[in-house]
Amino acid sequence: MKPKIIFGPAGRPINYKGPAYKAPEYIANEKLSAYEYQAGRGLRISEKSSNILKEESNKHDVLISMHAPYFINLSSNNEKTINNSIDILFKSAQIGDWMGVYRIVFHPGHYLKNKKNETLKIAKSTINKVLEKIEKTKIKNFTFSPETTGKKSQLGNLNEIIAICKEFDNFEPTIDIAHLYARDNGSIQSKNDYNKIFSNLENELDIKRLHYHFTRIEYGKSGEIRHHVLSEVDYGPNPKYFIESLIECDFKATVICESPLLDHDALILKKLYESLL
Ligand SMILES: [Zn+2]
Repeated sequence: MKPKIIFGPAGRPINYKGPAYKAPEYIANEKLSAYEYQAGRGLRISEKSSNILKEESNKHDVLISMHAPYFINLSSNNEKTINNSIDILFKSAQIGDWMGVYRIVFHPGHYLKNKKNETLKIAKSTINKVLEKIEKTKIKNFTFSPETTGKKSQLGNLNEIIAICKEFDNFEPTIDIAHLYARDNGSIQSKNDYNKIFSNLENELDIKRLHYHFTRIEYGKSGEIRHHVLSEVDYGPNPKYFIESLIECDFKATVICESPLLDHDALILKKLYESLL
C-alpha cells in the first residue's frame, strides 16, 4: 500500500537520460512514487508515447500528473488568446486521458488591468467553454488542477483557486506552497501558517488527495523570482513545518518537488517525511 504522502519530481529526473515518457521505472527505482510530466513549453507528445507513459506508470506504480503549457490565459481581454487557451486546455485533457494522468496542472491567467474583480468571472466563463468542448468528445477521465501562482499580477491566490474548484466538477486545486509564500511576501513562516492553509482547503473543498508543489523560492516586490534547492536555507518556505503540518492534517497528498534538484530534493523531502512519522 502507498504511504499517505508520496513524492516525485516536476519533470525528468536530473541524471536520467531516456525519453520523458519512460521515466517511471527510473523514478520507482529511486523509491519515489509520483511524476509530473512537463508540457509547459507545448504539447508535443504523441498518442503512442502517451500510452507508453501510462503503461509504464501503472507497471511501476508511479502516480502521474501533467503540467499544461504556461501560455494559458483564461482571463485575457484578447479573443484570440482566449480561444488559444481553450484549445490548449482541451488538448491537454485529450493527452492527459491518453497518459492516464490524475491531474492536469495549469496556471489560470493574469489579472486584467483596472478590472481585477472581473478577472475571475472571465476565467470561469472560459472554463465553461472548455468543458462544453470536452463534453462533445469521448474524453471522460480528466481532472483540471489550477495552481496557486507566484506573481502578484497572476490570477491564482488561494481563495481564487478554491473558488474555481468549488464551481466546477473535474476540478481539484494544485497548491504551490512556494508561490503562495512568494506572492504574499514570505508570509508562510510557522507551522500554524500551514495549518491555516490546510484547514481552509479542508473546510471549503471535498478533497481525496491534495496535489502540492514545493521548492524554496526567492521573491521580490512583484512576487516569485526564482526557485532554490532545499539546502539553501536562507530561502523559504520551511519544508519541515510543511511536512509536519501535512502529517497532522491527515490528508492524502502528492508533493511534486520543483526545486532545481527535482528528484534529488524530492528524496530529501521524502526522508524528512519518514523521519517525522
Ligand atoms: Zn508550481
